Amino acid sequence: MILIDGKKTSADIKNEIKVEVDKIIQSNKRPPHLVAVLVGDDPASRSYVNSKEKAAEKLGFKSSIFRFDENISEAKLLEEVAKLNDDDTVDGYIVQLPLPKHIDSQKVILAIDPNKDVDGFHPMNLGKIITNMPGFLPATPYGILELINRYKIETEGKNVLVIGRSLIVGRPMSILLSQKRKGGNATVTVAHSRTKNLKDFSLQADIIIVAIGSPHFLTADMVKQGVVIIDAGINSIDAPGTKRGYKLVGDVDFENVSKKAGYITPVPGGVGPMTIAMLLKNTLLAYQNNKN
Ligand code: NDP
Repeated sequence: MILIDGKKTSADIKNEIKVEVDKIIQSNKRPPHLVAVLVGDDPASRSYVNSKEKAAEKLGFKSSIFRFDENISEAKLLEEVAKLNDDDTVDGYIVQLPLPKHIDSQKVILAIDPNKDVDGFHPMNLGKIITNMPGFLPATPYGILELINRYKIETEGKNVLVIGRSLIVGRPMSILLSQKRKGGNATVTVAHSRTKNLKDFSLQADIIIVAIGSPHFLTADMVKQGVVIIDAGINSIDAPGTKRGYKLVGDVDFENVSKKAGYITPVPGGVGPMTIAMLLKNTLLAYQNNKN
């Protein structure tokens, strides 16, 4: 069994990005600028945004957090988004989700300039995935593609099962792997909460990508020997006796599935660290497209 090390791979990618950013700075140009829009005070969102800011600054990016009160009106937030679209010194920005209930997230995402949409959530960028055109890939599926690519895992002609069909992980992932190109060409099945007899599909799969948010969901009896397992799930479960009282686990029963797998990502240390690295890669691309 080969452990797919997302921590190391993301560090390699960040180093590659840093080389590019160093060149930019040495040529006396301004560094790429990433903005995170944070509405309200949700601790998980705050912690995600802080870690994105820290990672960006470490690579030499300029990084800013625009914080807004959770009672901000939808109209005012849309105004702020329009300002970011018009600001040439901002290369890319993300609006941290979830937004408060009184704000229509889809409306906000639609208002983002697709050329600055480094999360890749705008329908224009999602549409580019379907039409196989270059654009921003959502960071988590992009990170999974990089892991598959850097570990030289063949996808052509393979049976891939993607469990989960969200717009930020499962659905783009399934389309990317079925595209007619190197690193694609797989025969992809998408499973979700209405899928019947999931085990019939999972036992046929050469590669299984799980993104559902259900701890230890995929068990060893559901997979064949030598399967490639990519676990995007991040679940916090009670861990009495530990310092924090909880621990993070994936959607896969790692302990038992790893005994049958050819390759497997751990949680933590698998897909998770890749997400920020790919967000930064998208921001560098946005900067390069911004013709600085
Ligand atoms: P969503 O809640 O948006 O989507 C979950 C998907 O899983 C849905 O399509 C749902 O089906 C499906 N699903 C739920 N239960 C089952 C089940 N029992 N059997 C089959 N399918 C099921 O989640 P996300 O895609 O946003 O996130 C999924 C997981 O990935 C979470 O643990 C999240 O924390 C993690 N994540 C990790 C990231 C990272 O950086 N590594 C980034 C983003 C997410 P249906 O459509 O029918 O409801």
